[in-house]
Amino acid sequence: MKTKDPEPRRVAVVTGGAGGIGGGIVAALAERGFDVVVCDLAIGAAAKDALGTQVAPPARLAFVEGDLADLAGHPALVHAIHAAFGRVDCLVNNAGVSVKSRGDLLDVTPESYDLNFAVNTRAAFFLTQAVCRRMLADGIALGESQRSVVFVSSSNAAIAAPERGEYAMSKAAVSMMNQLFALRLAPHGIAVYEVRPGLIRTAMTRVAQARFDGLLAEGFTPINRWGQPQDVGRAVATLASGDLPFTTGAALPVDGGMHIHHY
Ligand code: NAD
Repeated sequence: MKTKDPEPRRVAVVTGGAGGIGGGIVAALAERGFDVVVCDLAIGAAAKDALGTQVAPPARLAFVEGDLADLAGHPALVHAIHAAFGRVDCLVNNAGVSVKSRGDLLDVTPESYDLNFAVNTRAAFFLTQAVCRRMLADGIALGESQRSVVFVSSSNAAIAAPERGEYAMSKAAVSMMNQLFALRLAPHGIAVYEVRPGLIRTAMTRVAQARFDGLLAEGFTPINRWGQPQDVGRAVATLASGDLPFTTGAALPVDGGMHIHHY
């Protein structure tokens, strides 16, 4: 008797996946049964080794390098992403930049404004557009919420941060992007979500570590500790797993309760 072919493994793409929060997302998705394409500017041997130790077989890893802000490079990038394992079921838009130095809103430069929007907003929008066109063309029929797009925005999408306003504005736009793509892709069974990390210990927050250590000592967040990349990874993998049918366009804070208005 012919044995039934095994279910094909689902494939996720994680931008900015070489380390930081992206590394936590890669590990969590692999644990949930995804093969993962890690997409980042440059992925050194040390980053590949570190990710390799967190991803156990049968999960497979592939690496695609490229600057997401360079839209002219997107066709080649999307081709390489798709060629890695022959399909894409989940796109995690995690790559991001913040301001080089925090300062007065009245001193924000056009260069810093443009960089934040180029990576955090514009690149995420057009990559999602290109990857989803490819997903629709593939026409792989899966159950409701089995394919997904996850945007990693920030608590600053909703909580004003005047000392890095251009970053906060670029992330607020990502929140609308989440809802727009959710509407567009729902008829195709692709669920879209936004994850809003709070204070997570990575290279991005290292510059402000002393300040936030001080705030945490005074009880900065209801769950009063630094978040870790794994905390965000677990949330993204849960959303991407398809375990939450009849949901799309939702924003999930992973911030220790920082977003709760209280006195
Ligand atoms: P990080 O600086 O450690 O990692 C960002 C990753 O994005 C890096 O690997 C970097 O190489 C990649 N990247 C940047 N520009 C790119 C480009 N043009 N093309 C391709 N890759 C690019 O930062 P992180 O803390 O891990 O942040 C990950 C995401 O989470 C970002 O979108 C960030 O805004 C968001 N976030 C972080 C925090 C936090 O506290 N760390 C809080 C809220 C939101």
